[in-house]
Amino acid sequence: MGGQHGVTYRLDPARNRARIQRLGEFRVLGLHQIPQGAEIASAVLVRRESGFYLQVTGYLPKETLAARQKFPHPVGVDLGVRDKLTLSGGLKVDFEVPETPRLNRLQRRLFRTKPGSKNREHLRHLLRREHGRIANRRRDAQNKVLAFLRRYPAVAFQEDFVKGWSASFGRQVHHSGIGGLKARLRNSLATPLPVERFERTTGECSACGEALEVPLSARVVACPRCGRTEDRDLNAARVILRKGLGLSPNQALGVDRSEVTPMEREAAVRILGSNPWVRVSFLGEVGSPALWCREEITHQIGV
Ligand SMILES: [Zn+2]
Repeated sequence: MGGQHGVTYRLDPARNRARIQRLGEFRVLGLHQIPQGAEIASAVLVRRESGFYLQVTGYLPKETLAARQKFPHPVGVDLGVRDKLTLSGGLKVDFEVPETPRLNRLQRRLFRTKPGSKNREHLRHLLRREHGRIANRRRDAQNKVLAFLRRYPAVAFQEDFVKGWSASFGRQVHHSGIGGLKARLRNSLATPLPVERFERTTGECSACGEALEVPLSARVVACPRCGRTEDRDLNAARVILRKGLGLSPNQALGVDRSEVTPMEREAAVRILGSNPWVRVSFLGEVGSPALWCREEITHQIGV
């Protein structure tokens, strides 16, 4: 859509509505995510398999950007297998975007159609559209997680078998959920601190560096040398932070702080809470690994 904002078209982010000359007014989901005070430069109507999209470009006043302060300390991230992230400060993010009941319904219906029939073609089209919608949600969840991680001055994470994954599971796995996030981490952060994928991170005490035997099923690790007991993933996140910074266990004292600051908490709720499939929990109390309190986040995304 060319033209000038306010003349040939007008966006109303507060009400999630757009008015376009000759087309009239309609609802645009997610428009409320445009920050207040943004000056809209252009809006382009794009057609994709999954529907119509409005691509909006805008400018933010300098003061708004300055308000997006960095957190004062670096962070280590443990990337779980099932769309879970644990941050060394004691914050867990869960961003599983499930397949929809509609997708399953369409797949069952497709299965019952005759090969080459019009009905089958139509269902194929609906399925592609539904896949597109789910992929958008996953991409948005990833974007929110990356936006939050960008607030840290440096982010340590462990390199993974992303290439191997895509070969064995195909592109779907690679671009959705945690696999896609891993692939995007390195290029999305101002200061990525990658830790070699062969480095020991789970089987090591974050406090003293002692090697630990950690069975796959163990949620908590206990160190026989220093006596520290900790949530398995939190321990790994702290080891990753230390190794990412290139420090030895006794150099790292105080770096691997284990408490969520009010600033992090506020930003986590604001940034991550705007996607309904992203959940955040905070470590309830330092030293009590079983105590994670889940904070329910209200979101405004439309139906
Ligand atoms: Zn120890």
